[in-house]
Amino acid sequence: MKLATVVVASRNPGKVEEFRRLLSPAGWRLLSLDEAPQGRGTTWEEDQETYLGNALVKAVAASSSTGLPSIGDDSGVEVEELGGWPGLRTARWLGEGATTAQLREGLQRRVADLPEDRRQAAFVCALALAVPRGDGTLQTVTAEARVDGLLLPRPRGRAGFGYDPIFIPSGETRTMAELDPEEKDFRSHRGRAVRQLLRALECSAP
Ligand code: IMP
Repeated sequence: MKLATVVVASRNPGKVEEFRRLLSPAGWRLLSLDEAPQGRGTTWEEDQETYLGNALVKAVAASSSTGLPSIGDDSGVEVEELGGWPGLRTARWLGEGATTAQLREGLQRRVADLPEDRRQAAFVCALALAVPRGDGTLQTVTAEARVDGLLLPRPRGRAGFGYDPIFIPSGETRTMAELDPEEKDFRSHRGRAVRQLLRALECSAP
């Protein structure tokens, strides 16, 4: 399937920037919700039981309001010691109004007293692409990937967003926020999921 203009169904500027970086080389022109026609008012409920379910909710909402192909992303961090928490609630476990900095500091505190071997964690990213068909229905293509790693009790680095300063992906000694953008894309849950999605699109009709 060939795509040109695609709306990123997210209000997170960090995600939008990463999708531009990851998908522009494939010839996609990525629009944020605010840039897309009728995109600004798009709303959705992240009320599904899986990352993929939530990614689909976002993609379908953005595609339905803009009439354009849209990509939805639902991500989370899963701490092994805490049974996979906060997982699906990674953006909301401190309440709806919490800032990114508060969320990161809160997670740092939760793991601060744990020895390194009990700070294992993984980042998960589910992607859903919704593409309008001529008959008014949507074709959807999905992908999901994860990256294992280690959480730090103190932040390091200034790049990236969200929990990047406290997460070292496996195979690295630097946090995601200390990596160059291309290095993050190579290692990250989102980079891996995007490459998987592109492979799935090569195989899908029309
Ligand atoms: P959601 O996918 O919009 O529900 O957000 C997931 C949460 O994970 C938010 O708090 C994000 O800041 C965080 N997050 C998502 N992707 C990344 C990433 O690549 N690095 C660091 N934090 C992330």
